[in-house]
Amino acid sequence: MKLSDPDLLKDLAYIDGIWQGGVDRARYTVSNPATGAVIASVADLGAVDTQLAIKAAQAALPDWRRRTGKERSSLLRALYSEIVANLEDLAQLITAECGKTLAEARGEIAYGASFFEWFAEEAKRTYGDVIPTTVPGRRILVTREPVGVCGLITPWNFPNALIARKLSPALAAGCTVVLKPSAQTPLSALAIGELAQRVGIPDGVFNIVTASSGPKIGAALTASPIVRKISFTGSTEVGRTLMKQCACSIKKISLELGGNAPFIVFEDADISSAVTGAMASKFRNTGQTCVCVNRFLVQDSVHDRFVAALKEAVETLQVGNGMDDGVTQGPLINADGLAKVQSHVDDALALGGKIVTGGKAHALGGNFYEPTIISNVTPEMKVAREETFGPLAPIFRFNDTDEAIALANDSEFGLAAYFYTRDIRRVWKVAEALEYGIVGINEGIISTEVAPFGGVKQSGLGREGSRYGIDDFMEMKYIAMGGLEE
Ligand code: NAP
Repeated sequence: MKLSDPDLLKDLAYIDGIWQGGVDRARYTVSNPATGAVIASVADLGAVDTQLAIKAAQAALPDWRRRTGKERSSLLRALYSEIVANLEDLAQLITAECGKTLAEARGEIAYGASFFEWFAEEAKRTYGDVIPTTVPGRRILVTREPVGVCGLITPWNFPNALIARKLSPALAAGCTVVLKPSAQTPLSALAIGELAQRVGIPDGVFNIVTASSGPKIGAALTASPIVRKISFTGSTEVGRTLMKQCACSIKKISLELGGNAPFIVFEDADISSAVTGAMASKFRNTGQTCVCVNRFLVQDSVHDRFVAALKEAVETLQVGNGMDDGVTQGPLINADGLAKVQSHVDDALALGGKIVTGGKAHALGGNFYEPTIISNVTPEMKVAREETFGPLAPIFRFNDTDEAIALANDSEFGLAAYFYTRDIRRVWKVAEALEYGIVGINEGIISTEVAPFGGVKQSGLGREGSRYGIDDFMEMKYIAMGGLEE
């Protein structure tokens, strides 16, 4: 990792505008998933430090929420510009701590920056409403106010963009924030803190608590009556725990959780564009995104053609260290991630699945796994129910549209779904029948700051990005003014 601005590499937490260690001065190490090398030793905070961060956010709230949307907008816009100006360094940090290729890391920074740009604009547009009165001499207004102090908890697979997607609407709305980034990827979070400080986001408005233990910090954030909202992205299991913990003080909660995305290829699909979409959606970040395809459902009549074309494309992938030129697939995040992929492969093979390509740990060793396709997959297999979160493409077959819809909806998750067809009636039938928050039609990449991102069923609550994203950080206030008769 070579940063042109070494000050972007921070190893202390950021509380009340001060870079600091925890009260007990503990540290933990962050390693590069491609090489295993230790890249930093970072402050390891606990519950007491989290309380200090919450207090700082509470103290900063009155001034921050009192500022006009236009003032907050200028600061967010400045932060957007700083992120864009430092794109290369920020991308280096992502590749070093999460393993994705540099090309993907650069794309992530541009994607993350787009939320700061978008919500800098939305900060000025938190409109209220005037409702026609039902009683003479009374006026009815609705205003919108920031929720207050927010706890943000984020995962490792998009160490920059998933923070941006929460932080920018929170700050735009007038909330103050305590962020707990993933233990595995704190460096990208701290670099955002450094840039926020440089552009003049006031002390205490944005605090970052780095820690090796998510549960400790999560318990402190959810137990605090000062924190009025938790916004979490991560696994459904941890989301469920946080929801229970938030019940005690009835906090608002947004949850962006796991997925089990189906990708349906109908007989009239353009197979070459379906393969392009499949590659982008399945193998981005080595299969470690919440909207990655988890199940390919392919109609009988085009099954063999699609599988052959996908195999050809998969075999062009170059596995290696994401820092190296030409590499298109980085490592999995850690040994547990690799073991999960292998367990899904083993289970599928034991139940009759057939390897089309790949199927084992890569010769490079470490956290590298071969991009894999398995055919003959059936609903009894683990890959049908669980999120693999790795470079495994399991292929199911189906006979007609109704069977495809039933298979696609046969999941507790409901984040993203994709399908390829050129029949306009089928387009509408399937799009409306899919129980998912996001549907890509003849499109494998669906993330953008202008559209609402989020899931239904056990994939979560709330939406991020778009003109709706700021609503999750605001409360409505109804104001009735009486006694206005002449
Ligand atoms: P995770 O294990 O749920 O962790 C996510 C974050 O929660 C991390 O910061 C983690 O801290 C923290 N955490 C863990 N246990 C906690 C607890 N008891 N209380 C409070 N915080 C706790 O998920 P992950 O493995 O990092 O990420 C992968 C998952 O995220 C996948 O399921 C993926 O689908 C989902 N995801 C969803 C979206 C979406 O938008 N829907 C986007 C990306 C990822 P530590 O790092 O210290 O463990």
